[in-house]
Amino acid sequence: MFQAIPAKKGDSILALMTEYKNDPRTEKMDLGIGVYRDDTGNTPIMQAVLEAQTLLHNSEPTKAYQGLIGDAEFNEVIAKLLLQGTDALNRCAALHTPGASGALRNLGDLIYATKPDATVWISNPSYVNHRPIMEKAGLKVAEYPYLNPETKLVDEQAMLAKLAELGENDVVLLHGCCHNPSGADISIDTWQSIAELANKTGFLPFVDIAYHGLGDGLVEDLKGLHTIVNQVEEVLISTSCSKNFGLYRERTGAAIVVTNTQQQAINSRALMCELARGSYSMPPSHGAGVVKTILNDEALTATWKQELTQMTQRVQGLRNALVAEFQAKTQSNRYDYFAQHKGMFSLTGFSDAMLEKLKQDYGIYIVQGGRINVAGLKQAEIPQLISAILACEGL
Ligand code: PMP
Repeated sequence: MFQAIPAKKGDSILALMTEYKNDPRTEKMDLGIGVYRDDTGNTPIMQAVLEAQTLLHNSEPTKAYQGLIGDAEFNEVIAKLLLQGTDALNRCAALHTPGASGALRNLGDLIYATKPDATVWISNPSYVNHRPIMEKAGLKVAEYPYLNPETKLVDEQAMLAKLAELGENDVVLLHGCCHNPSGADISIDTWQSIAELANKTGFLPFVDIAYHGLGDGLVEDLKGLHTIVNQVEEVLISTSCSKNFGLYRERTGAAIVVTNTQQQAINSRALMCELARGSYSMPPSHGAGVVKTILNDEALTATWKQELTQMTQRVQGLRNALVAEFQAKTQSNRYDYFAQHKGMFSLTGFSDAMLEKLKQDYGIYIVQGGRINVAGLKQAEIPQLISAILACEGL
């Protein structure tokens, strides 16, 4: 039965991680996989999470099944975290999922169950897993123009021109903030234009927000999403607690469906539960327990917000330091885009040859396409990184 399965090349990001681990050099930099690190290179457990875990440990009454909707209280607090202040909060339903990956797949299944002929439009480029998840849900996937390779910023005109051609059979997957892999985010004017286009043409906006709080802060990062939900009746949302709560391995996220009426949202979630039943059934509870414990407690929420702000400010500081050092060394502005980008990543577009040289000659590991995990850098490494990049430039 299994003879015909060909050998597969593993995931290139994970392969790069292994190569990095096996590299005996002491002066090496892992700027590959998308995890936040502090200035000592550690991915810490947040203090608010540690405290919430203790509370949870002492109060959890049982490990019995939670049911298909997962943690009901988590569903409430996560919907509030994203939609408080909008009327969408009164016409939505949230489903606790195994990470945003689980949310993306569940919403893909929901689209397929309701409109099997729909095409899901993803940005070019997009998160590596957007296309496979939607295709595995049985959906057609196409790309809209997004990044201008020259400026490394969003080509908003080209993007809007393509979205204007779409219609009721189309779903447009948007990054809520901190675009992965590019770091280039949509301006608020463009979010407004997208909302208007969705109403005019009938496409369904689907906002994937996996880095809430890591761009400009928890409130600022919701401006795009709120622009959409305040004007468009039906919206899909996937969200992750992997990055902003540092709960990567706890697989904590949510799929939120915003509809015309609360009843429609509840009906949609019932279908989403049925779809979940056919795959992972129920999500793991621990991460959601931690998140709800934090968000239901004022002091813990304050601690969490403070820690998240520190993380975000560290990354913004690294971005500014990169730009200052590039300007000083090149007397040019060609790397200013690092400070215009938001969140953990910046897409440099470095060639394969350049990435190979950075790895071989300088022990600097960057994934194919040149996505740099800025959040994995240490302040002290900046001069070394920039010297290496400038030495390899032009390859
Ligand atoms: N969406 C985007 C844009 C992502 O970058 C990621 C992962 N980093 C996810 C979804 C999936 O997140 P999770 O780890 O919560 O499954």
